[in-house]
Amino acid sequence: MVLWEGKAVTLTNWAGNTTFHAKEVHHPSSIDELQRLVAASAHVRALGSGHSFNHVADTTGDLVALDRMPELVEIDSAAAQVRVSARTTYAKLAPLLHRAGFALANLASLPHISVAGSVATGTHGSGDAVPGLAAAVSGIELVTADGSPLSLARGEADFPGAVVSVGALGVVTALTLDLVPAFELRQYVREGLRPDALGHFDEIMSSGYSVSLFTDYRDTRVWLKRADELTDPDWYGTTPADGPRHPLPAMPADSCTEQLGVPGAWYERLPHFRADFPPSGAGDELQTELLLPREHAVAALRALFAVGDRIRPVLQISEVRSIAADDLWLSPFEGRDSIGVHFTWIKDVAAVLPVVELVERTLAPFGPIPHWGKLFTRWPECPDRFRELVRRLDPDGKFGNDFTRVLLGE
Ligand SMILES: Cc1cc2nc3c(=O)[nH]c(=O)nc-3n(C[C@H](O)[C@H](O)[C@H](O)COP(=O)(O)OP(=O)(O)OC[C@H]3O[C@@H](n4cnc5c(N)ncnc54)[C@H](O)[C@@H]3O)c2cc1C
Repeated sequence: MVLWEGKAVTLTNWAGNTTFHAKEVHHPSSIDELQRLVAASAHVRALGSGHSFNHVADTTGDLVALDRMPELVEIDSAAAQVRVSARTTYAKLAPLLHRAGFALANLASLPHISVAGSVATGTHGSGDAVPGLAAAVSGIELVTADGSPLSLARGEADFPGAVVSVGALGVVTALTLDLVPAFELRQYVREGLRPDALGHFDEIMSSGYSVSLFTDYRDTRVWLKRADELTDPDWYGTTPADGPRHPLPAMPADSCTEQLGVPGAWYERLPHFRADFPPSGAGDELQTELLLPREHAVAALRALFAVGDRIRPVLQISEVRSIAADDLWLSPFEGRDSIGVHFTWIKDVAAVLPVVELVERTLAPFGPIPHWGKLFTRWPECPDRFRELVRRLDPDGKFGNDFTRVLLGE
C-alpha cells in the first residue's frame, strides 16, 4: 500500500504486474519543493508514466510523481532543440514540435510514455540509421541527493552516464532534445514473410526509415515506415495487407496508426499505436526485450525460430527492430549497432518466466543486454564508469532500490 494524497492505495505499474512499495507518493509543484523533498528524504525515487514491467521505478521510501510540476516545452528554432519538462509525454510533445516545423528522429511504439522515464531506460523505436530516444538528449537537468540542482550538457565528462541512468542519479526535471525538420512517412504492412527471407535481413531492415518484423516464429509480417511509395507487389515474397492491421493478429486495428501507404506526419506513423487510444491490450501483457549486436541478427533469429514451439505457448507476438549505436554508458546500444528482439507475453508471470530464461539462454552466445524497463533474469556486467558516477553523485544510495543494487553489484 502507498499513501497517495493522504489515502492508502495499491499503486501498480501500467501492466499491473508490479506493486509499488513506497511509503508515500509526493506531488511537488515546483523545483524548490522538489529540492526540499529530496534533501529531506532518506530514500526517494522518481516515477514516470509507470509503463515499465519490472521494479525499476520502485522504492520503499518516497516516490515522486512530477504530474503537478510546471509543464515546459521551449522550442529553440535556431538551435533546432527543445527544452522539455521530464514529465511530458511524447504524445503531448510531438504535435507541438510538428506545428513548429520540427520532429524527433524517432519514437517508440506508443507515445503515452514520459520523456524522462523513456530516456532513463533506453527506450527506442526502429531504424537502421536511428539511435534510441536517449541519443536525442543534449542536456539534462536534475535534482541530486543533497537537493541541489545539476545541469549536464553533451560534451561534459559525466553526461554520457547521466542520460540512460535508470533513475539512479537523481530526479530529472527537464531535458533538452535535438530536433530534425518535420517529415512525412507512409506505413505499410506486408504479410507472409517466409523464414528463408531472413537471408535478406539487412536489405529488408534497410528498406524503410523504420522497419519492424512481427513474428510468432512461424508467421512473420513486416511493418514498413518509409517516405517513398512501395509499389512492388511481390516484395520479398510477401503480400500487401488488404486492410489496417494490429501487431497482434487477432486484435482490431482501431488503436493503430494509419497504414496502407497513406502519407502522414512522422508522429502519426512512427509509433504503432495512436496517442488517443490505449495501446494494445491495455495492460493485458508482459514484455521482455534483448538487445544484441547487429551482426548476430540472423543467427540469433534462427536460434529463436528453432525453439519457437517452446516460446509460442506464452507468446502474444515478438517484434524485431534495429537501433543505431550511441555513446551512453548504460545504453544497450553503447558502441554497437543493435538488433532488438522483443517479446509481448501473456500476462502470467509464473508461466512466462521459464520462457524468459529459455530465450535468455538461447541468445546468450550473442551478447544480449536486456531492456531496463522490461522483464529479465540475467543481469549484464554494469559498466565501471556508471557505477563510479552513481557512487560519486549519490554516496548514500538515496536513489537506490533493489533494481539498482543488483545492477551495481551491491
Ligand atoms: C505498451 C508498451 C509499449 C512499449 N513500447 C516500447 C517501445 O516501443 N520501445 C521501448 O524501448 N520500450 C517500450 N516500452 C517500455 C517503456 O518505454 C519503458 O518502460 C519506459 O521506461 C516507460 O517510461 P515511463 O515514463 O513509463 O517510465 P517509468 O516506468 O515510470 O520509469 C522508468 C524509470 O525511469 C525513472 N524515471 C522516470 N521519471 C524520472 C525522472 N523524472 N527522473 C529520474 N528518473 C526518472 C524511474 O525511476 C524508473 O527507473 C513499452 C512499454 C509499454 C507498456
